[in-house]
Amino acid sequence: RYQEIERPARREKIEKLSTMDSSMEKKNIKEDKGHPVQVVLAHPNHTFELDEEALSDILLQDDIKDRSVVVVSVAGAFRKGKSFLLDFFLRYMDSKYIDKQTDDSWLGNDDEPLSGFSWRGGSERETTGILMWSKVYPTTLPNGEKIAVILMDTQGAFDSQSTVRDCATVFALSTMLSSVQIFNLSSNIQEDDLQHLQLFTEYGRLALEKSGSTPFQRLQFLVRDWTYPYEAEYGADGGFKLLQRRLEVSDMQHPELQSLRKHIKSCFSDISCFLMPHPGLKIATNPKFDGRLSEIETDFKKQLRKLIPTLLAPENLVTKKINGQSVKAKDLVAYFKCYIEIYKGDELPQPKSMLEATAEANNLSAVAEAKDLYLQLMECVCGGTKPFLATAHLESEHKRCVEKAIYQFSNKRKMGGDDFSEKYREKLSKDMDEAFLQFKAHNESKNIFKAARTPAVFFTIAII
Ligand code: GDP
Ligand code: MG
Repeated sequence: RYQEIERPARREKIEKLSTMDSSMEKKNIKEDKGHPVQVVLAHPNHTFELDEEALSDILLQDDIKDRSVVVVSVAGAFRKGKSFLLDFFLRYMDSKYIDKQTDDSWLGNDDEPLSGFSWRGGSERETTGILMWSKVYPTTLPNGEKIAVILMDTQGAFDSQSTVRDCATVFALSTMLSSVQIFNLSSNIQEDDLQHLQLFTEYGRLALEKSGSTPFQRLQFLVRDWTYPYEAEYGADGGFKLLQRRLEVSDMQHPELQSLRKHIKSCFSDISCFLMPHPGLKIATNPKFDGRLSEIETDFKKQLRKLIPTLLAPENLVTKKINGQSVKAKDLVAYFKCYIEIYKGDELPQPKSMLEATAEANNLSAVAEAKDLYLQLMECVCGGTKPFLATAHLESEHKRCVEKAIYQFSNKRKMGGDDFSEKYREKLSKDMDEAFLQFKAHNESKNIFKAARTPAVFFTIAII
């Protein structure tokens, strides 16, 4: 019911926005602080649901949909400061990418309450699933590529109320969909933390075999409340030391542990670790704590200032790649849909079905892209303002546009091999034929001879 009330209001707002002139629009983006949107919902009966409309509202915005995406996700156990951290990400993004601040003021004022993703749920757990920040940050990489940064929060991973499967699902989905996965851990990297990565190492091995490119991009272990700074110092250097130790392979280990370690490395193009100090006792003990900086330990703030730019500064942004190719915002919707589908069964999906789902979404987005090309070309031929064309002419133009679209589809590097792609090529042909019927009908409506019979008769008689 909440959604029914919420939706029309949201749509109205979007319509309103689109009628404003561009300077007003920019001002509006500046003022829109954004809000968390639940895009994947875990039901109490352990099924997962995608809110496709909510996801599309975010990813299919006109100035976003064709950009490559950087998807930053934070995953890990419940009540370990994930959302709290993400709210500082939001401050950084708003300050650097929207307000274009060049100084160091992004961390905020001393007495400013921390808002954004909700981080103070008490001991009550919030809805399990994946949340996305409604505001996407458009920016340009140092190489000139126009991209969009998306922030994702996950909830309900590895706590006692969720089943192990639900936790693994949320973790898996967010890893599959992100380009930067921040694995938020409390106090240390333990063996079972590494085991959560098992599924990906298997998937990664298959994907590597098929495509030759590293399946995932960046994995950032983030250890909170690190208490051994004399062994490994806070920050990235200490993190590097700890990670070396944890991912070390030795003959003393069980062969399974050895292979896990070997394969984790081959799944991600970059793995790093960062050690965070404890934010201070006031945070844990003061029920009125509202996130203001004045009550957070200096050491924590110091490390936060270092950590966040290593993840979010333009030169460190990592775009989402699948099969070695950048993923556009509009493609991401297809990946969400296919991945949710494989988590519908009772069992955790097999790495093989994860690969198939990826190949499916990959082909579907190639279909969508080729169909877009067809629509654009046809629009130039017989769109709204174009004059009526004789049927034979229209049909030959349709053929020409179809050929171009099929050519583009065939030449795009896709997953799953030629046989797998064949049924998607057929789907593309079918989709274009359907679209052609519309173009044809529209063209006919421009035919003044048919539209108004009587004058046509007079006209013909006059000619005779
Ligand atoms: P989430 O469930 O992982 O998203 O956790 P939240 O962000 O909601 O934070 C849960 C609680 O942990 C809040 O009361 C925060 O004040 C507190 N918190 C945030 N960061 C840290 C941290 O680094 N260490 C500790 N011990 N607590 C933190
Ligand atoms: Mg949270």
